[in-house]
Amino acid sequence: MKSKHSIRLPHAPTVVVTAITTAWLTADGELENLHHDETVQRLKSNKIPIVCHAPATARRLGIEPFHAFDVLELFAFAAPAQICIPTPRGVAKAVGLDVLEVQEDEPILLRKATQRLLASITTSNFQSDSIAIAISMTHGGWLWGEYVLSALGVDFDLSIPNIQTGLQVWESLDEWSEDAPPPPPGDLAVDAGEARSRLAAMLGKDAEERPSQADYASAATQAFQPRHDGEEPHFLIAEAGTGVGKTKGYIAPASVWAEKNETPVWISTYTRNLQHQIDQELSSLYPDPAIKRDKVVIRKGRENYLCLLNLEEAVRTVSVRQEEAIVIGLMARWAAETRDGDLNGGDFPAWLSDLVGRHRTLGLTDRRGECIYSACPHYSRCFIERSIRCARHANLVIANHALVMIQAARGQVGGRSPPVRYIFDEGHHVFDAADSAFSTHLSGLEAAEFRRWLRGAEGRHRGRSRGLKFRIEDLLESESARSALENALSAAGELPRDSWHQRCVDGMPQGPAEVFFVAVRREVYARAANTDSIYGLEVGYDVPTERMITAAASLESTLTKLERSINILVKHLLARLDDEADSLETATRLRLESIARALQHRALDTLNVWRSMLVSLVNSTPEEFVDWYSVKRIDGHDIDIGLHRHWIDPTIPFVKSVALPAHGVIVTSATLTDGSGDIEMDWQAAEERTGATHLTRPAIRATMPSPFEYKLLTRVFVVTDVRRDDQLQVAAAYRELFIACGGGALGLFTAISRLRNVHTRISGALDKAGLSLYAQHVDGLNLPTLIDIFRAAENACLLGTDAMRDGVDVPGQSLRLIVFDRVPWPRPTILHRARRHYFGSRAFDESTTRLKLKQAYGRLVRQGTDRGIFVMLDSMMPSRLGGAFPPGVEITRIGLAETVAAIREFFPDARRNTT
Ligand code: SF4
Repeated sequence: MKSKHSIRLPHAPTVVVTAITTAWLTADGELENLHHDETVQRLKSNKIPIVCHAPATARRLGIEPFHAFDVLELFAFAAPAQICIPTPRGVAKAVGLDVLEVQEDEPILLRKATQRLLASITTSNFQSDSIAIAISMTHGGWLWGEYVLSALGVDFDLSIPNIQTGLQVWESLDEWSEDAPPPPPGDLAVDAGEARSRLAAMLGKDAEERPSQADYASAATQAFQPRHDGEEPHFLIAEAGTGVGKTKGYIAPASVWAEKNETPVWISTYTRNLQHQIDQELSSLYPDPAIKRDKVVIRKGRENYLCLLNLEEAVRTVSVRQEEAIVIGLMARWAAETRDGDLNGGDFPAWLSDLVGRHRTLGLTDRRGECIYSACPHYSRCFIERSIRCARHANLVIANHALVMIQAARGQVGGRSPPVRYIFDEGHHVFDAADSAFSTHLSGLEAAEFRRWLRGAEGRHRGRSRGLKFRIEDLLESESARSALENALSAAGELPRDSWHQRCVDGMPQGPAEVFFVAVRREVYARAANTDSIYGLEVGYDVPTERMITAAASLESTLTKLERSINILVKHLLARLDDEADSLETATRLRLESIARALQHRALDTLNVWRSMLVSLVNSTPEEFVDWYSVKRIDGHDIDIGLHRHWIDPTIPFVKSVALPAHGVIVTSATLTDGSGDIEMDWQAAEERTGATHLTRPAIRATMPSPFEYKLLTRVFVVTDVRRDDQLQVAAAYRELFIACGGGALGLFTAISRLRNVHTRISGALDKAGLSLYAQHVDGLNLPTLIDIFRAAENACLLGTDAMRDGVDVPGQSLRLIVFDRVPWPRPTILHRARRHYFGSRAFDESTTRLKLKQAYGRLVRQGTDRGIFVMLDSMMPSRLGGAFPPGVEITRIGLAETVAAIREFFPDARRNTT
């Protein structure tokens, strides 16, 4: 039933909250400035406002989440799979308002953006599927529902037959089709001339000349030569300073090689967001989006993609809880429009998970590896399966270090034809990525998760979870296999279950695993140096107590039973593949293979290392590893208990599983050498960190310095008169430095507690100075969202932990000042102690710290026109760390007042309001 279209806005105030005040625009257009207390009172009097990001607004007001017309929800519905910065200006810009010229108050801008969003919802650009979703959401109680339906000219009919119908979006997605397997890789070399001409073609004839970029492309061809001996890859370590243009520099030879040899080159970077940045650079190689879609694939782990079966199960819950239709409707809108189903860094707006909850968004991925493959009704439309198939036929696969390493360890990269050429961009992270990929944890949380993976959801909280029985029962054809399944599930029943942690804290464990974790907890609390630490406690194995030995033996026996049963299951599945080779359908074959592989790696490999860790408690840890007990804490609350095993040198498994089977590997970054003053020592350290020292054929080294004049573009100050232990002084320093710079400032901290403390002390002053302040671990916003906001606003300030430094790639004015609260020395953990002994004590610490400083400093100048200042508030920074900064950049040690004056002088045009 249709009626006349009309764009109606809710008769509601539009509210924008800053750190200390609120701009309140009444429905009649009167703009008021309120204190937070008054805002809270008005909200209590049942006024449902229009806001942008309700959870962050509530957090700023210090109140519980409240009902609101959240414009971001409307955006997610009206413009699914499109990205916008989740601020009033960000939304306004995304809907086409000219925010630079229209210097209006934010509530007015937000109201206009709302109007424009509603006006964009018309039947001409909305298919009937989307209208059905809007109706379902309205039935779920969506506040925007009546306004959206009004814009669509649709009458809201309360008697729809089934609220779920509109949400079943999978039915209209395209199916993928199986292609013939790709041919075996060719082995034709790429020469320097080919790489240079490809680069020139990518850049276009009007591009400025960058000789170092062409030299880089030429050097990179050394990894694209045929290999002459098994397990002796061409291993190139290439340092290219910022501004060289290394991404296009390596894409040139890589794309030539892929075309000549009809085999993909895998480009791996550190974060999922960086994957998308590389993808953007590839538009110069493949300007036609259709061709690019064929030639370039972004690959991530399964846990990143929407699982349609999970979505279907979520849709079913709507029949019981109608209000769920709102969130699921937004997810359905996105699922229908997304390019590839990627929920992490793709076209899914990161802020939506903060808005409606991680569980209902990111929780819809195949996070636990519970896929049932061809038994799934959505298999032929599955985003994950589609991406795996596309990668086989692409020229360039853009992956991340974690995926490459985990899959290489499992023999799974590239499916049946493993890659032979890799490029590791952000190569300074290879060490950390390997450390994380090849470590093992036998903790309460891990063991409970493993139980859930095997037995599915149990007890009161029977959520969405498909246990092993559901996943494989129909594949088991013998009585012995079925009984092995029952035995495995029964043994898994001895692992920790819901509320395990509370029982361990109360000393009332159930089952051998919980008994063991109680013993670990007692051991940690008995021997840890500082049991009040808010971050976590850890102790080494040393001499185990009788209690620990007994508990470990009992748990080991349970794990052995489990391992034995799963082994039988794997053998049965593999035997079917062999015995029925001539009769199995492809889909069933793939399913058998995938499940056998998952059981092998997710279960048997894990159980094997867990048992070995338990045995090492009594015997001793193999010398290549370091083991320890821990109690993990967040904000002083225990959240996990367990054992940990890390490789002392994680590049050993990296080289074994990734580099040795490959024919050519490039490890590249702007920060591979650390500036100790001895260039040969720097390269040796770089080779240690990338694993090159474990190769029989020496690594090839290449270096291209940055073309930027850092001496002119930057300043580095060490402030000498702020006591780093005095939080008042540190906060005052941040405040004055940020205000002097007029924003565009990033504050980095080596401890979350100090970050929060500084945030509390400076937020009011910055607000008065007209500077927006955002903070990791404080605002109700996730990290990618915070960085997007910071990047988009020229004069914002952002506080984050030291680890944030790498994710902040912000060219231009938005980042012009970096302030570190302390020297980012490595944390003195048991793992660090072992590595110090192995890699060389003080030199290792200093080299690691210089690299961190170098990476942070490197954020300041991303393009030739950027200028920036780096400030260290820790006067104890030794001059030996000065090599972190480029030659010629002077490190000036002065007091705070002089530093503030120097900033004002360096940025004379900065917009500064006085406090
Ligand atoms: S095939 Fe697996 S991952 Fe894909 S939708 Fe089905 S269950 Fe989910």
